[in-house]
Order: sequence, then C-alpha cells, then structure tokens
Amino acid sequence: MRTRSSWQRITDVILSTDPQRRTLVGMALLALVLMVCSSGVMLMVAAYSSSVSSVAVNWWVALSVGGLAVMTAFIRSGGTARLNDPSLTVPQMVWTITSGAVAYVIAGDARGVVPAVLAMILFFGTFGLTVAEVIGIGVYVLLAFMCAVAATMRFNASPSGYLDTAYALMVLIVLGGSITLNLRIQRIRARLHEKREALAQALAVNRELATRDELTGLANRRAMQDLMDLERRRSQRSGRPMVLAQLDIDHFKRVNDNHGHATGDRALQAFAGVVRSSVRDTDVLSRWGGEEFVLLLSDTRLADARELLERVRQAVAAMEIPHATGVLRMTVSAGLALHLPGDTIEHTLERADQALYTAKSLGRNRVVLAPSAPRAAAAHSAQS
Ligand code: GH3
Ligand code: MG
Ligand code: MG
Repeated sequence: MRTRSSWQRITDVILSTDPQRRTLVGMALLALVLMVCSSGVMLMVAAYSSSVSSVAVNWWVALSVGGLAVMTAFIRSGGTARLNDPSLTVPQMVWTITSGAVAYVIAGDARGVVPAVLAMILFFGTFGLTVAEVIGIGVYVLLAFMCAVAATMRFNASPSGYLDTAYALMVLIVLGGSITLNLRIQRIRARLHEKREALAQALAVNRELATRDELTGLANRRAMQDLMDLERRRSQRSGRPMVLAQLDIDHFKRVNDNHGHATGDRALQAFAGVVRSSVRDTDVLSRWGGEEFVLLLSDTRLADARELLERVRQAVAAMEIPHATGVLRMTVSAGLALHLPGDTIEHTLERADQALYTAKSLGRNRVVLAPSAPRAAAAHSAQS
C-alpha cells in the first residue's frame, strides 16, 4: 500500500496529475525512451565500425534525444495545452524522421537499421494523425529519404547502389502500409463516434422520459421530489421562504364520465399549460399523479403565494376547452403550505394536502392556506 502511494507520487511528479496531460506526457516519454534506445544502437555502431564518425554520431545522439526531451518538457509544463496539437505529434515525427534520415547518412554500412526504426515511427504516429497529416508526413519521409540516399551516394565511403535502392523501396512499402492503416483507423473512429453520438442521444431521451410526465410535459413526481429536496436545502441555507401548493381539479371524474377519457386528457394538458403560463419561470409545476399537481414556489412569502394561486384559480376558471358538443369548463382547488425551517418536505406536503382537503370541503374552486405552526408545537399538540 505504502509503496503504491509513493509510486503514485513519483508518477504524479513525472507525468503530472492532470489525466489528459498524463497520457500526452506518457506518449512523449515513450518516444523519448525509444530514441534513447536507438541512440544506444548508433553509439554501438560508431564504436565498432571504422566507416562511422564518432563525432557525427555523438552530435546526432545529442540533437535527436535533446530535441525530443525539450518537446516532452514542453508538454509536461502544460504549455502545449492551448495548441491545436497538444501532443506535438507532428513536430515529434518531423524531428525523428529528420533524425532517421541523418542517421541513414552517418551510419555507414549499418544504415539498414534505419528503415526499421522509421517503420516504428510511422506506425506509432499513425494512430493520432488525420489522413491529411499522414499524407503530409509521407511526403516529408520521401523527401528526407531522397536527400539521405543522395547524400549517402555522395559522401559515404562505401556506397552500394542496390542496397540503397532496396532500403528506399522498404521506406515506400512502410509508407504505403502506414497510410492504409491510418485510413482504417479513421473509419473505425468515425464509426465509434457515430455510435457514441447515438448512445448520448438515447441517454438524453431516457433522462427526459425518466423526469417528465408524458401527457403534460411537466416534471414527474420523482423529478419533483428531487427538486423540492434541493430547494429545501437552498432555502435552509439562504433563509428565503418557500411555499408548496397541492392543486386538484374539481370533479374531474365527471369530465371523463361526460366527455370521454381522451377529452379528459386534453383537459389535463390545457390545465398544465394555463397554470404554467400563470406562474413565474422559477416556479416548478409537476404532475403529482392523476389530476393532482404540486407547485413549488421558491423565494416566495405565503401572502404572495396566495395571490399567485388566486390568479391561477381564476385563469383555470376562465379556461374553455372545446369538445364535440360545446366547450368544457373546469375549476381547481389548492392548498398552500409555507415550508418551515428544519421541517421535512413530506410534512409540508401533508399540511398543503390538509389545506386542499379543507378547500374541497368548503365547496371547491378556492385557495386555502395551511396554518404555519412550528413543527415542534404541532408535534407537541399531537402528543398531548
Ligand atoms: P374532487 O373535486 O373531489 O377532486 O373530484 P374528482 O372527481 O376530481 O376526484 P377523484 O380523485 O375521485 O377523481 C379523479 C379522476 O381523475 C379519476 C380519474 O379517472 C381521472 N384521471 C386520473 N388520471 C387521469 C388521466 O391521465 N387522464 C384522464 N383522462 N383522467 C384521469
Ligand atoms: Mg379532483
Ligand atoms: Mg384527486
């Protein structure tokens, strides 16, 4: 456990703690390690071959490794984060290809190792590049190698034409292979992207279905419970009052009985629309079930809530829903309760429901306020 955490601390220092940057630094470090290994091979060639200049190889090692080390440090510092290519893949590839072409010239008889290293660079780099970038890199490889072969023929002590032709052909084959691989990867990526989009869309639809009532488009009971709980905590923190209202359409059973269920459904939709347009944008209306609705009025005093609900009641009473033989009118009853600090949402809803019951028993089509007695007092009176 302890070794793991100290290992994590070391990797945090080397790779950074930012997950995206960690990946980029990790890739750059891999390229750097491969370059160091290739440098080892070149140093070995310089040590054993009389046709290779040690000075040239030492310079080559210093520049090749140094260049990649600078780019790695730049990525690690976060300085590349704002660039189009924060991984510096293209500059890294151009640098290593140039270094490969120079190695080809200075490695003398051992230059046959270079096409293999080049194959590695191209296949690795291919994964992160676009088709256009791969083609651009391909053109650069061809140019660099044409120069390298020309320079070899001009300066190398023991040029052998057929070998250079074979190496140049190898380079072409590798290029063809990496471009084909890149095209395949791009196709797979495009398919994955499409699938991810479709999945995200399906998830969004699902989320919508899970929180909305299908008939009215209002928040459903579950979503409302979450919202009320969130608002309760907010109100607790800010000390701003919050009111809950229970609304129930009067004699709705008759609407169904007299005009059919489909008209009842349309009436519910019209009711939702009218109430919504009568309240503020910040108030949330939800379908609690059947023809019962709960309205959440945040940052609202009880007296203001009563006025608002009175307006809602009048708007509903003025509503006319056309049907086969005329127009349909409805009324609504509402019970209001101020949420008391420290109380539960369930208890506030219960108080609103009792007020609604009173509104019904007083003859319907009215708004009734629940008494705002503190819960402790209510509990006390319940016990006594
Ligand atoms: P009250 O004034 O006492 O509230 O009388 P009410 O008839 O409205 O009361 P009750 O709760 O007995 O009836 C509610 C009716 O609402 C019964 C049910 O058929 C109807 N209802 C519930 N959900 C839907 C729905 O989604 N569509 C339709 N068309 N009717 C519904
Ligand atoms: Mg009803
Ligand atoms: Mg009811």
